[in-house]
Order: sequence, then C-alpha cells, then structure tokens
Amino acid sequence: IGPLLPVVGGNLAAPLAGGGRTARAVNLDYAASAPALQAVADHVTEVLPYYASVHRGAGYASQVSTALYESARQTVAKFVGARPGDLTVFTRNTTDALNLLAGAVPDDGEVVVLDVEHHANLLPWTSRRHRLIPTAGTIAETVAALEATLAERPAALVAVTGCSNVTGEILPVGEIARIAHAHGARVVVDGAQLVPHRRVDITALDVDYLAFSGHKLYAPFGSGVLIGRSDWLDAAQPHQKGGGAVRSVGTDGQAVWTTGVARHEGGTPNVIGAAALAAACRAIDELPEGAVEEHEAALSARLLEGLEQIPGVRVLRVWSDSADRVGVVGFTVEGHEAARVAVYLSAEHGVGVRDGKFCAHPLLARLDVTGGALRASLGLGSRSDDVERLVHAVRTLVTEGEKIEYTQIDGAWTP
Ligand code: PMP
Repeated sequence: IGPLLPVVGGNLAAPLAGGGRTARAVNLDYAASAPALQAVADHVTEVLPYYASVHRGAGYASQVSTALYESARQTVAKFVGARPGDLTVFTRNTTDALNLLAGAVPDDGEVVVLDVEHHANLLPWTSRRHRLIPTAGTIAETVAALEATLAERPAALVAVTGCSNVTGEILPVGEIARIAHAHGARVVVDGAQLVPHRRVDITALDVDYLAFSGHKLYAPFGSGVLIGRSDWLDAAQPHQKGGGAVRSVGTDGQAVWTTGVARHEGGTPNVIGAAALAAACRAIDELPEGAVEEHEAALSARLLEGLEQIPGVRVLRVWSDSADRVGVVGFTVEGHEAARVAVYLSAEHGVGVRDGKFCAHPLLARLDVTGGALRASLGLGSRSDDVERLVHAVRTLVTEGEKIEYTQIDGAWTP
C-alpha cells in the first residue's frame, strides 16, 4: 500500500539522536494524528490559490471556494453513507462535533454512555442528564447491560465509541443501534478511531449520528464532522452564533436562526480543511475494497503477538470476547514507568509512541492502570520493520535489562 499511498512526513529519513543510530524515525502514533496523504497535500496545493470567503461573495474566487466547500461536504457525506436529509456539519474535530450534538439533544432526554469512552465522548454527556454504564467483562454482557437500562427507563440517546482509542477493540455499533431504536433511543457513534481503519456506512448500520476528525484520517488539523439526522439539529440553539447562522437580525439584535448546516457553522468556515478532509475520503475510497484492513491486519497481529511474548508486557484489553480490533495497541511494561519508556523508545530506538492516560481516565482506572500506559498505533504508512523495531526495543528494555537513565526536568523525562 506504501507506493499506492505515499505519505507526507510519515517516513522520515532523519538521523536520530541516541547511540548514533541513523535509521528512519518510526511513527507509531497514528491514533493521535495521522500524517497527510500525498493526495491530500496535492489537493490542498491545488486549491490554495482559490480560497476566498464562501457563500456570500459574488466574485469568481468566492464562487470557486463555495463550490469546493459544498462539494467537500457531499464527498464526506457519501464516504460514510449518509442518508438523504442527513446534515453534514463541518466542525473543528470530533470533540467539537460531539459538543455540538450535546447541545442539540432535547433537554428532557437522558443520554446513556459507557465508561470506556474517550473524554470527548464522555464529558459532553456527563455534563447533562445522563446514565453512565459500567462496562462488563464481555461485549455481550456490556450490550446486555445497555439493553437492560434502556428497557428499565427510556433514554434519548446512546453515545458509544466505534473503536476504543486505548485498546483498538471494535464495538458492534449496528447491534447497539438496533437495540437503542427498539427502545426509542437514538445512537451517536464516536468514529474518531473507527473511520480511519474501517469502512463505516451509517445507512447500513442504521446509526443516527457519526462524528470524526480529519487529522486522524490523513488530513491536516482543524476539520471534523458531525453527520446525522436533521430534526434535533434544526431545533437546537446554534453551535456558533454569528454571521451565516441567521436568516435575519432585527434592529433589537434578535436573530431568526436559519436551519440546516449553516445554523451551526457561524463564522468563516475552514474551507481548505474541509477540502483536505474530502480529499482524504476520496483517496481512501479509491483504494481497492478491503485494502486498508488488509494492510493493517498482518502488522497488527505481529504487533500484538510480539508484545505479548515479552515477559512483563501487558496488552490492554477491555473485553474478553472482543473479536475485531484495529491496529491501536495499549500496553504497560511491568516495573517501568510509561512516560520513561516512551522517552526511551524515542531517544534510543527512534520509535514514537504515545504514553499517558489517552483522555480516557475512567477506562484506565477500570483496567487498573494507575500511572499511565503506552500506545502504539498503525496506519497506512506503517511497515513491518516499524513493528519489528518497536518489539525489539521493548524486548531489549525488558529482557536485556537496559537501564533508562533519564532525569525529569519540569515534568518531562529527558535523556
Ligand atoms: N474520540 C476518540 C475515540 C479519540 O481517539 C479522540 C482523539 N484522541 C477523540 C474522540 C477526540 O478527537 P479530537 O481530538 O480530534 O477532537
């Protein structure tokens, strides 16, 4: 897939610090932000000369920009199988999209949420009327617990992640949607981690709302989407009050708000960000069916197997029956502080992973991880030697008793 999808900045041939190693710097942090696809960089370069304020300008550049922005919206909607009538609202990212929806759920409606969520799909709900469901040991039991709470008392919305950003485990969102609908609730899927790894079709899954971020889907920062049913969104307070969100404003300053996507997109939009996100969707769409999964499957399996064979390494897992997972692997190394391991992997082996609590504090507590964990995550630019390098580095640390000799300065570990 590499030659098919060259990535910008994904394969850095840069000399590395630490023991004179001069190999390529390995990025195993795709789950945080994925490097831009070449097709995205090319598209941005191509459209950059034309950008101008959208919608209200009569000039040529404004017309081009408006067409670009609106066609980007259609591309993104089609990419995830939006239904006719669904709104595709451009947002800053997934966090922004879920906060937008949180402001649109009818006031008297309760939101049901699991305790495995990223804070972006937790805090917008726990700040309003909600029910937090403790995750059970299996996915089957967790889904049963969701069904039981919905049967006991109706809720307006079930907010669930498509894929855990800590463990990579995938949840059966189609089944959850079916159960929610049977009890009169809607479903929003946090697709931040799922969409970059799996084809998601909200019509086929019968999911009401989907949120995801461009910067995890091989486009630059600053663009995301909320896609879904229009009625709540049209009735909600505008997400960003200001220019573009109104039909008219009286001399008393009172607005008559418009409906549709414009209601929530007040202010000058990120046209280039939207175009970049659409270019990423197009590039992924053009790949042969199953290519993304195929590229990742063997790498993922080797990553899991390699880490699990190292004594003292614990690969994090929420559910004992999770059958499907993406190349996002959280782990701990017994006797080693995660933050120090992350610095060691980068400084001594040129491997970039993430450490910490991954904005999922309740989940880490549930998994009995106190100090933080590490996370290696794969994407389209990942190669088998990246995985081998990480496995080798962790094994060297553990089995050869390599010492990490760093000091902590201002809260950060430095060699
Ligand atoms: N949900 C999940 C599952 C995530 O992994 C992330 C990003 N770490 C988010 C939501 C938030 O995404 P963003 O920072 O782009 O808003």
